[in-house]
Amino acid sequence: MTEAKTITVGTAVAAPGQVVRGVIPVTELAGLTKLEIPVVIINGINPGPVFWVDGAIHGDEPEGPLACQIALREVDPAKLSGTLVLVPVINVPAFEAAQRGNPLDTFSYDMNRIYPGRPNGYLSERVAFAHSEWMTKVADIEISIHSGGAHSYLAKAIFVDETDPSIELAMAMGEGWGNIMSNFIPKGSPMAQMKAVGKTGITVELGGRSATSPEGFATVGRELANAILNILYHYKMYPGTAVYPKPAYKGQQEALLADASGIFIAAPGVAFLTLMKKGDPIGKIVNIFGDELAEMVAPEDGLIFGLRALPNVMTGDWCCFYCKIEGERSWAPKA
Ligand SMILES: [Zn+2]
Repeated sequence: MTEAKTITVGTAVAAPGQVVRGVIPVTELAGLTKLEIPVVIINGINPGPVFWVDGAIHGDEPEGPLACQIALREVDPAKLSGTLVLVPVINVPAFEAAQRGNPLDTFSYDMNRIYPGRPNGYLSERVAFAHSEWMTKVADIEISIHSGGAHSYLAKAIFVDETDPSIELAMAMGEGWGNIMSNFIPKGSPMAQMKAVGKTGITVELGGRSATSPEGFATVGRELANAILNILYHYKMYPGTAVYPKPAYKGQQEALLADASGIFIAAPGVAFLTLMKKGDPIGKIVNIFGDELAEMVAPEDGLIFGLRALPNVMTGDWCCFYCKIEGERSWAPKA
């Protein structure tokens, strides 16, 4: 019988049974502000895997940090087998600016495209490198929490690489997380880097600008924290009964872009995560007098999992995130 181990991430060193906060140091800025990545380790008293949760690699996505803080309050290391590592905010300068990327770094702005980063690269590449080094060394499984950010609202969506471990991790997200797609694995994302070292990471999406009312934001945070807990239940890291999405779909993402500039008006009755037929109306773009300029329809049988949050739209903007469904997944938990 192996024993629970001390876990180290950056300056945080957690013995079994401890909850310890620390940082992954990166560099120092001109005003002597330290650029570092905050981290908390919840290290269980019993041995088990290391489950690593990442938030806010995009700074306009506060849903990950909210989910992490709920999990931090609720997970008791005395009941935990293995370790939960929470990185609420990877991209601190972007988070502080509430922007997708660090506004001070235009050359590696989107941090979800630059992993594993470079120790001698642009500023965000150095942040990515510092994070990637610890994540790939310590984590067994990883989820990156995203949302629609400033531009969109995204209903529950997951991106996997179609390996069995990634599908298992996706299903372990729990009830309602059946929109599981596999064509959009951003090159240079944390999940791609986990895959590169033979480990498992997935990208999950929930929330965004149209769900930041007090009630909407609280609901999104609760749902994401529930998914973290459900993963702990599924991998037998925490006492509890895991639940699974039913149905679960295999699909491919298609981002539908605006064909005109104006105001985006969703079609009456259009709903998230609801099956549609090819050609069903999604919405239209009208000019300021109400004249129709463009119509948006379902490109294939599938479902809508995201819509732009601000109806003002420019030609080429993200309008709708659509999952083209290829079939149902037959995955079931091992007996
Ligand atoms: Zn994102």
